[in-house]
Amino acid sequence: MRRKLAAGNWKMNGLRADLVQIDRLLELHPAPRIETMLCLPATLLHDAATRAAGHPMTIGAQDCHTEANGAHTGDLSAAMIRDTGATAVILGHSERRHAHHEDSEVVRAKARRVHQTALTAVVCVGESLAQREALNTLDIIDGQLSASIPDTSNGTNLVVAYEPVWAIGTGLTPTLEQIGEVHDFIRARLERRFGPGVGRAVRLLYGGSVKPDNCAAIFGVSNVDGALVGGASLLADDFLHIIKALEAAV
Ligand code: PEP
Repeated sequence: MRRKLAAGNWKMNGLRADLVQIDRLLELHPAPRIETMLCLPATLLHDAATRAAGHPMTIGAQDCHTEANGAHTGDLSAAMIRDTGATAVILGHSERRHAHHEDSEVVRAKARRVHQTALTAVVCVGESLAQREALNTLDIIDGQLSASIPDTSNGTNLVVAYEPVWAIGTGLTPTLEQIGEVHDFIRARLERRFGPGVGRAVRLLYGGSVKPDNCAAIFGVSNVDGALVGGASLLADDFLHIIKALEAAV
């Protein structure tokens, strides 16, 4: 039985004053039948991990370098992230794939480093609008999965987030049938590559304009084990609504 996961991605938002949002989440978080994760800017990781210690909430980062250390000005290593108390890292988010030209091979190298550092990789895949309109969605997802996910993956150190690029931050979402088709496809591919044990244990998140008013329907879709939430994770009350909807789907 996979434990449901509500993950938030604050992106480049949040100052230390915004840690009160996390305090509110920790105070009001429902019973730990599901896992909650907040992926934060690096500047907030240690403070947030300290606050979340002992609570059913994990803290994650949003990227890391492929190398363990070295001359990489401005970058963060997986070990540095772990040192803050964070336990997960988002990798291959479309904003990094596009704005930082990260291809799937780079994502795979980062994920391998994350695994070597005993952290969980939340690997994002997703098609562009042009790719969907050209009916290439499943081929694109297939290629991204094969190339982005390292052999070091297992049922606990890997989470896959399906995030259609055209749905991120736009208010647009695929139909429930489209979400289900891609999630079933990802599940089948993971089972084929890693075997049924690992393939069925990896959690699959949907991401792209998940909001309090559409989350319950999305959580009813087959092979959706939770959500990766951008904008709606910034305010504790919105994210709490999504957490509670996911809990109700257990
Ligand atoms: C995201 O940042 O991964 C995301 C899905 O953003 P939003 O929920 O704002 O579309």
